[in-house]
Amino acid sequence: METICSAGIGSKALQMEDEITALMDDMTLEEKLGQLQLLASSHYHDLPPSEQLLELARQGLLGAVLNTRGAANTNALQKAALSSRQKIPLLVGLDVLHGYRTSFPIPLAQAASWDVEAVEKVAAIAAAEARASGINWNFAPLVDICRDPRWGRVMEGSGEDVHLACQMAKARVRGFQGTDYSQADKVMACAKHFAGYGADKGGRDYNSVDMSERQLREVCFPPFQAAIEAGVGSLMAAYMELNGVPASGNHWLLQQVLRDEWAFDGLVVSDFKAVSDMTNQQFSADDAQAAMYALNAGMNMEMQSTTFADHAPQLLQEGKVKMEVIDKAVRHVLRAKFRLGLFEKPLTDEKLASSVVLSPSSLQFAREMASRTLVLLKNDNGLLPLSKSIKRLAVIGELAYDQQQTLDFWALNARAQDSVTIYSGIVEKCPSTAVKYAAGYEMFGESTERFTEALQLATSSDMVVLVVGEPKEYSGETNCRTDIGLPGRQLELVKGIAASGTPYIIVLMTGRPLALEWLASHAPAILLTWRAGTMGGAAIADVLFGDVNPSGKLPITFPRCVGQIPIHYDVKQPGKPQIKGQKMQFNYSRYIDCPNEPLYPFGFGLSYTTFHFDNLTVTPKEIEGDGQVKIGVEVRNTGLKEGEEVVQVYVRDVAASVARPVRQLKAFHKVRLGLAEEKRLEFTLGSNELGFLNREWKWTVEAGKFEVFVGNNSDADLSDSFLVTSTYTKNSNAQ
Ligand code: BGC
Repeated sequence: METICSAGIGSKALQMEDEITALMDDMTLEEKLGQLQLLASSHYHDLPPSEQLLELARQGLLGAVLNTRGAANTNALQKAALSSRQKIPLLVGLDVLHGYRTSFPIPLAQAASWDVEAVEKVAAIAAAEARASGINWNFAPLVDICRDPRWGRVMEGSGEDVHLACQMAKARVRGFQGTDYSQADKVMACAKHFAGYGADKGGRDYNSVDMSERQLREVCFPPFQAAIEAGVGSLMAAYMELNGVPASGNHWLLQQVLRDEWAFDGLVVSDFKAVSDMTNQQFSADDAQAAMYALNAGMNMEMQSTTFADHAPQLLQEGKVKMEVIDKAVRHVLRAKFRLGLFEKPLTDEKLASSVVLSPSSLQFAREMASRTLVLLKNDNGLLPLSKSIKRLAVIGELAYDQQQTLDFWALNARAQDSVTIYSGIVEKCPSTAVKYAAGYEMFGESTERFTEALQLATSSDMVVLVVGEPKEYSGETNCRTDIGLPGRQLELVKGIAASGTPYIIVLMTGRPLALEWLASHAPAILLTWRAGTMGGAAIADVLFGDVNPSGKLPITFPRCVGQIPIHYDVKQPGKPQIKGQKMQFNYSRYIDCPNEPLYPFGFGLSYTTFHFDNLTVTPKEIEGDGQVKIGVEVRNTGLKEGEEVVQVYVRDVAASVARPVRQLKAFHKVRLGLAEEKRLEFTLGSNELGFLNREWKWTVEAGKFEVFVGNNSDADLSDSFLVTSTYTKNSNAQ
């Protein structure tokens, strides 16, 4: 019997294994293969399950479904499964990326909150709403690191940084699953897409990925390891091919790394039709070979294609797949069902959802959370916050008004009529102001017909809130872009409004970093709102009018232009001085037509108040390789408003046997400071933070000098250093 890690070792786990064995002893091969099958119901609608699905469930030939929603519909399926010979309930999966009916800001925005507890709470609310609606398996979190904003799915992740992404991955897994996901308000999480999917070539979805093992292990793997550490119940293999081998048939990924090195004991599911897609990837000759590769690589469950059920019997007969491979996979599926408590409680109380979804406290938290994700990119002369006594306020931009645009690619269950637009948020905030709206631009067209009306409105107003950015159709799966500027004719409209002479501020709605050089140098104020969900409009009004002080920080670099991509803060710039006062070399890495520096660096975000960092201490100044160092810093609110600051600690390993990034985020803390308040924060760094994988893939802290940088973005220059006096190497690649 395999070792059991996360289910809780002991008699309960052993009893579960015995029950699984008993079930399996009584299963036909067809029934076993049925357990490995995940099929989609009518895509993206709350329709009852099809007769075909119900019949498969009745025959005990279905392990899981996706895209069936609502307790009545999922119960119908469960009842069908319970009428089968063995009465094995179904896994009911769905992508609940950033909320169920209550839609929260997109995951990338949530990462901009740098608020681990809040992100966990978001996931907990999403889980409660989903489970009450019959969903027990969430295809989230997406933990792929993305350093290419052209990729449409950048919105679903936590951005470019390994440390931040690991914290977010853990928070989301904890929120979705709690400590026991058999509870009525929890779901089993699924960390996806294993691995490398965020690095599709050219930022084009599903494109192949070529990546060194070092990049995989240092950048892509850690968030998966973090999710596993947090107890994630399942993992989804990526679609694309990784270094020539599709992730779905990649034995190195699914067996050697995942099971042998990391001892993951959860369920591994394929992506949608990804197993049969291995033929399109010119890897397998046909579906039978695809099934063979996937099963032998360690895939447990197949989503939507049916190669296992269709071809495994023949493959077994031919000796190309062994029965123990099938049995192992079935065991993983059944374990997930036991851990979800489905054998004890397969049905959902059909009255529960109405009291759980869109509850007043969830909506209130959605508003608070959204306001915490907003990033103030620019604020010349303190133009923001706006006064609530402005007489004539123009809100310009279709994105501010169209309720459909409060939804997102993955807001599958949210409904536009439940949400607050920016326009209505502002109207509610300022009852004594005459708020007028003009669409200004065409969201999907090139026409400038609406400009005249908008410019007239601007001219006859005292202030313009100009809402520009990407419609929801521009990000999410498959929605990749080569041009990451403002779509259509929006920039022309902005220039027109700027020329009108009426003061204006930019509200930037987007699912990805945009290249906005003109705006960054000309617009007086820019509030980045991402895509903020059900209560987004209310939250944006809270920040625009100063009831909430913005505290979000970029979880991903904003480039100046597409040509700078990939650009991330830890990238090497050989010869370029990393330390103030260092001499510039002639042959340093650069472009002749664009600076190396991004438009806005990782970790950046302003506030309506100012913060001062001082008295950085590093103690002791010398440690052994397995020792710990304490980093202390004082942060003072030096402005005129209470606010929150994210204190960020970056570490640089000055010289090592494998050249290290110029600096890496290793710790952070979001701190609230009242007027003139000062707090001293202390961070402890040990071998987890100071080490790296050496050339033998062993976790090591090498002797030598380390520098520490503390501040409120990745350009932080308050620095000190310490010395590691001896090398410490672990016997494994675990931190
Ligand atoms: C996506 C997955 C998702 C699945 C099911 C796929 O196309 O890549 O992330 O979980 O569909 O909706």
